[in-house]
Amino acid sequence: MMDPFYLILIGGAMLASWLVSNTLRRRFAEYSQSQTGVTGAQIAERMLRAFGINDVRIVSVPGQLTDHYDPLKKTVNLSQDVYYGANVAAAAVAAHECGHAVQHAQAYAALRLRSALVPMVSIASRMVQIVLLIGLILAASGSVIVLGIGIVLFAMTTLFSVVTLPVEFDASRRALAWLGQSQALGGLDQRKAKNALFWAAMTYVVAALASLGQLLYYVFRFMNARR
Ligand SMILES: [Zn+2]
Repeated sequence: MMDPFYLILIGGAMLASWLVSNTLRRRFAEYSQSQTGVTGAQIAERMLRAFGINDVRIVSVPGQLTDHYDPLKKTVNLSQDVYYGANVAAAAVAAHECGHAVQHAQAYAALRLRSALVPMVSIASRMVQIVLLIGLILAASGSVIVLGIGIVLFAMTTLFSVVTLPVEFDASRRALAWLGQSQALGGLDQRKAKNALFWAAMTYVVAALASLGQLLYYVFRFMNARR
């Protein structure tokens, strides 16, 4: 199990994720200094109204980077820094979360698929590690069935992180399009917002790649054990 190849894979994924989250944190700190005069909550309000969405509430939630759209409660949840912040970083995040609300209102296919996967993936992710562990132990003595089940469970979680990518990129695309056309931000601030959302999306890219890498690793172990 403590295969050197696996350690390199996990180490590489951890390094990439550390680099991305570090860059993201630095860019957000920098863009939080660019004042806009409009709070994230006001940006969200304006964007939802522009899309004719009247049944989504904008609420402030505790914590940092806790911003998310809740499709069940129909709430755009903004962290306090974003809700009250009148700067480019806050505007970018607020508009991105509203991008998810617009996806929901327009029944965007990738979001529907992602939501449909949630119940299955939450069960899979709860048992995947233990099943894989037992699977690898049994595979050493020639029985690969449990490892095969573990791979199917892991593949579900990988599929989920891959389907998340178009959802996240599309929400940012909608956010930037609206910020540009509504002239909520000036030209330079628009470029900063684009950069902030790019690094935010990169965290999902790294997570999806790490998941794909691990999946391939388990498939490789499975093929080897069968021989
Ligand atoms: Zn998002």
